[in-house]
Formats: sequence, structure tokens, C-alpha cells
Amino acid sequence: MADRAELEQLLTEEGFTDYRWIDPRQILVAQWVRMKCTFGCGEYGHNATCPPYTPSVAECRRFFDDYGSAVVLHFEKRVDHPNDRHAWSRTVNQGLARLERAVFMAGFPKAFVLFMDSCTLCTECTGARTSCKNPRSARPSPEAMAVDVFGTVRPLGLPIEVLTEYGQAMNRYAFLLIE
Ligand code: SF4
Repeated sequence: MADRAELEQLLTEEGFTDYRWIDPRQILVAQWVRMKCTFGCGEYGHNATCPPYTPSVAECRRFFDDYGSAVVLHFEKRVDHPNDRHAWSRTVNQGLARLERAVFMAGFPKAFVLFMDSCTLCTECTGARTSCKNPRSARPSPEAMAVDVFGTVRPLGLPIEVLTEYGQAMNRYAFLLIE
């Protein structure tokens, strides 16, 4: 079990205050999530951290089972225009990359973060792992790792709803795997 007090200090230092500890076995992984990525998302094959570049659903399950601790981080945001989401995602994901680095440097070699949104570190993604412009920091989203985010966060009492119109507040989630 990771040293929670030390890790919570790192989370605070990086500006993350809205989170819950979770047993990685509680992170639900489902085939339907991969289907939604494959059929229904314009980023499939166009973002270097999205399917088909991510592991198979079975491998994603094994990845989470490799860890003893995890943190789920909650982010709420309302934007005036759909495209405004990307600048916000970039800022949050940059902070998450710094957090993963800080946790790694604190002596947790397996630290791995799943970004709140598809990787938006660059304004234009190259769309392929081999040409990624920032391969050391780019990370997949929970959905790209087949995480059923709805089914995982609701039992924790965290808010998440299907949004029916832009202008409604988004509730989005990142995960930090630690050991
Ligand atoms: S770092 Fe840039 S090129 Fe690499 S996955 Fe992220 S947005 Fe795409």
C-alpha cells in the first residue's frame, strides 16, 4: 500500500484537491467502452493515445490488476463553446503529467496517469504513436483504456451524467495508478 500521506501532499502541491482513493480492482473495464471508441468517436485512429494504439480490453484489465492503489481525480467544467474544452483539457493534462512525474520521483516506479481527456498536449495530434511529438508525457484517457467511467465513479458517490446539451457542466475523471 502506497504511503497515502506522502502522496496526498504531492497531490496538494500539484493543485489537485478533488479526488478519492480507489482499489484498482474497483476500476471497471468493459468491452462496450472499446466499441464506443471504435464506432462513434472521431478520435479513433487520429489521436496517438487512443484506440487502436491502446492495449486490448483484456490487457487493460491486467494493467489495472498490476497495481495496489489508485486515485480517481474529479474535474468539473462548463464551457461556452465545445472547442473551448480542448484548452482546458491541455492545462489539466499537463498538470496530471507533472503529478505522475512527482509521484514517480517520490519512489513509486509504477506511477502511471490516465489523462482526464484524450491527449491534448499538442494543439494538433500527429495521430500515430510512432510520430507522437511528446512520447514521454503522452498518456491515454480512462476511456481509451476501456474503463467504464460511469460504472466506476457512481459507487463512489461522484457525479456523472449523460449530457444533452453544451452548456451543461461536464464531470470528467482522471486516474493515477500507484505502487
Ligand atoms: S503528445 Fe501530441 S502527438 Fe503525442 S499523443 Fe499527445 S497530442 Fe498527440
